[in-house]
Amino acid sequence: MTSVDVRAVSRAFGDAVALDDVTFAVAQGDLVVLLGPSGCGKSTMLRLIAGLDEPTAGAILIDGRDVRGLAGAARGVAMVFQSYALFPHLSVADNITFGLSVRGVAKEERARRLGDVAALLGLEPLLKRKPAQLSGGQQQRVALGRALIAHAPVCLLDEPLSNLDAQLRQELRREIRALQQRLGITMIYVTHDQTEAMSMADRVILMRQGRIEQNGRPADLYQRPATLFAARFIGGAQMNFLDLDDGPNGAAVIAGTAGPALFAGSGQGRVLGLRPEDIALDASGSRGHFHAPVTAVEYLGAEALVTCMIGERPLVARTRGDQVPGLGATVSLAWENSAAHVFDAATGDRLAPEPIVEPLSPPHRALSNRGIS
Ligand code: ATP
Repeated sequence: MTSVDVRAVSRAFGDAVALDDVTFAVAQGDLVVLLGPSGCGKSTMLRLIAGLDEPTAGAILIDGRDVRGLAGAARGVAMVFQSYALFPHLSVADNITFGLSVRGVAKEERARRLGDVAALLGLEPLLKRKPAQLSGGQQQRVALGRALIAHAPVCLLDEPLSNLDAQLRQELRREIRALQQRLGITMIYVTHDQTEAMSMADRVILMRQGRIEQNGRPADLYQRPATLFAARFIGGAQMNFLDLDDGPNGAAVIAGTAGPALFAGSGQGRVLGLRPEDIALDASGSRGHFHAPVTAVEYLGAEALVTCMIGERPLVARTRGDQVPGLGATVSLAWENSAAHVFDAATGDRLAPEPIVEPLSPPHRALSNRGIS
């Protein structure tokens, strides 16, 4: 069942268009992440759903009802802000129950719900403290508690973890996800952090300049990025991009090389995308299609990012940390056909893969690449 339905929503501030014809639906009980770089319109979208602002055009439906003109509580939404927005002079308990008091919920009911939320979030020992006496993670939990106690069917979170250190962020995103799943809350979560999005979301809505670039499951965005922008934004180590060119026999090759052929058809105006983790690097230099010199190594412990040169272009491959080639060594590189992403260089759109002329897998094939031994 659809919980939040955003239909052709636009929001302009004077001449500046913050959102341009945005349509998406959030199913009940799903955690949907609005992801994208600074200024792409994520917070504006969340504020429109929360009722803190109204669209210039389009409609927002919550549980099938057009919510234009309704305040947040009447819409059935609760929001957690990046800044937490806790009242410094109120105790943790009063901060959490503030909204219920304002709405005139009876004292016994407030106490009962506070007990539930405090137990859920591990806040019982902190209820008498003031916000200044709490750590960042504890403040974040209070802000979350304030949203959960409202029993709103839809919870909106705007970069709730951005003020915290990396370890706490990781802990809390697990906690929030577990809580959301346990309670069956519909959540819309704004972040610019792709790791947060990929690890928490049922669906990721990737935004760019006020429009949706791609809307899908995390695995869809990773495995089949719809555009160059999506390919660049998603993934731990950034995808490699190599310009293609027309090679012999009507096949596409990597620009600056004479082969091997990647697929039948023109390579001009096309870009090959390869994730570092999809490139098999053979340090002995005997297996693979491209012989490439190693120009940089970034050692990360369990793994390493190894930069090699394909023609004039650097290509980063990920290897195990105990199999790192030395600087200047010549390694060979190979990848599965299915790991190759092809994009139109001008529009950025993903292109349907075309039949492969030569299989890009061992056995080793001798090359006559310019600049590659
Ligand atoms: P960030 O991650 O930096 O918070 P965001 O993706 O949440 O960015 P928004 O805050 O939604 O982006 O802003 C989208 C665009 O709308 C930006 O160009 C911003 O400058 C503009 N904008 C947002 N609010 C207003 C406003 N009240 N008046 C004028 N322009 C605004």
